[in-house]
Amino acid sequence: MGFKSDIEIAQECEMLPITEIAEKAGIDDKYLEQYGKYKAKIDYNLLKESDKKDGKLILVTAINPTPAGEGKTTTTVGLADGMQKLGKNVMVALREPSLGPVFGVKGGAAGGGYAQVVPMEDINLHFTGDFHAIGAANNLLAAMIDNHIFQGNALNIDPRKITWRRCVDMNDRQLRNVVDGLGGRTNGMPREDGYDITVASEIMAVLCLASDIKDLKERLSKIIIGYTYGKVAEQKPVTAGDLHAEGAMTALLKDALKPNLVQTLEHVPAIVHGGPFANIAHGCNSVTATKMALKLADYAITEAGFGADLGAEKFLDIKCRMADLHPNAVVIVATVRALKYNGGVAKADLNNENLEALEKGIPNLLKHVSNIKNVYKLPCVVAINAFPTDTKAELDFVESKCKELGVNVALSEVWAKGGEGGIKLAEEVLRLVEEPNDFTYSYELEGSIEDKLNQIVQKIYGGKRVVLTANAQKQAKQLEALGFGNCPICVAKTQYSLTDDQTKLGAPTDFEVTVRNLKISAGAGFIVALTGEIMTMPGLPKVPAAERIDVDETGKITGLF
Ligand code: ADP
Ligand code: MG
Repeated sequence: MGFKSDIEIAQECEMLPITEIAEKAGIDDKYLEQYGKYKAKIDYNLLKESDKKDGKLILVTAINPTPAGEGKTTTTVGLADGMQKLGKNVMVALREPSLGPVFGVKGGAAGGGYAQVVPMEDINLHFTGDFHAIGAANNLLAAMIDNHIFQGNALNIDPRKITWRRCVDMNDRQLRNVVDGLGGRTNGMPREDGYDITVASEIMAVLCLASDIKDLKERLSKIIIGYTYGKVAEQKPVTAGDLHAEGAMTALLKDALKPNLVQTLEHVPAIVHGGPFANIAHGCNSVTATKMALKLADYAITEAGFGADLGAEKFLDIKCRMADLHPNAVVIVATVRALKYNGGVAKADLNNENLEALEKGIPNLLKHVSNIKNVYKLPCVVAINAFPTDTKAELDFVESKCKELGVNVALSEVWAKGGEGGIKLAEEVLRLVEEPNDFTYSYELEGSIEDKLNQIVQKIYGGKRVVLTANAQKQAKQLEALGFGNCPICVAKTQYSLTDDQTKLGAPTDFEVTVRNLKISAGAGFIVALTGEIMTMPGLPKVPAAERIDVDETGKITGLF
């Protein structure tokens, strides 16, 4: 049997002009800045000037995934299309795709099958230039740091302790570590340097958490770029503000701060804006985008990256706390494939029916359900994202098992059927959002860094405790001394396991999580806790997706995936 590819389905869609989508969303013309026929930016002043009551907020997250992704974006889009079929005024808020994965392994991030946002080629390639602006702001700061040192280094910056890296939106392992400033006295000061992918830049996290231009500028000025010469106790952090860079950086970002409007295949208004990494950053679309969707629609559906232990945890503990958002329901996406994977099946065998493995994988799902219900005290439903390779016996098994255990569940067939396949899930979500809830964070900001980490490890991962290496202990002390002790924590760890070891699947207990490195993202306003080596500049695979992508003489793109 042959299936149409995502891009073939997307190109068959007769898009409505973006002005019609804006009208449907209730966006006054004065707030709309068109980027061609099918894309527009929305002025953030709409947020301040509208007096509509906020809609309900729905978060889509997932169990611990397989490397292919479990369909959170697909489910988010299909759920919105399903709600529209039920006559609801709904919007989605998603992240913008990065070029790295588009040309690498994973492919795009605009949904899949009959649940996509369009124009998918544009959304996946360049879009409205936000990532370019972020890269420019990042690299302006880098240029100003090296120029400051070249011009005499009045701030006494130790070139060996510069933490700010350059960036580019590409998977390019060649640039992970570089030496620059070569060529003699007039060509800069030689030093070790490196590049991150743009989505891993702190600027991305800052843009996504900023509430407005003023807040954006303040956050940018707080970014720590490195430290001064001296022993640890004497070292002082040097900020972008010390270099007087925040004004020009904000100028570069002023349009990137405006959320982008597009549409789903079924013409539901969709905001696609911001795309921070889900390990060293918080992994969800911008605060402005989420707030705008809430302001415009009665139901705003948004996605958080990776599994619920990373994505939902950060969405709830970092983003919701900073932006004062109160979710009304959570959808946990589970697939038969990922459940079997968590039950110990090798990647190559995931397409074969295996009910025993399914059963063995279910504890992973139950742990995430319990976290949402019992830790965060939010209503939730499991969406079983049906794949063509799933057997009926497998789908029935997961559904009946959930029901038996008292877990809300709905089969989602949005990939194959669009909104029609999302009606059951939509009905369940509409029921849940009416339930009152006592939303609670998994930890309070007061208390030591180690204490906060312990709460995440124990409550969310199900482990025994956190272990800080000697290095991390030293860093914790330094960060607390610098006044960053009460920041929320952003854990960077594997997405494949509830532990810090990607081979431990299912729902392990009694484990320790080792934190090796603690780093402050002072602009974003969180402490990053690294549990291992986290890649901030991915590489391309042996056969990159880029080899299949082409464009014909009419401008039609093929092979995007
Ligand atoms: P996530 O947001 O969880 O990373 P995506 O929604 O981006 O996942 O989906 C990852 C990939 O899996 C996409 O290429 C998508 O087309 C595909 N996919 C998602 N759901 C299904 C499904 N039910 N059947 C087949 N393929 C799917
Ligand atoms: Mg996604």
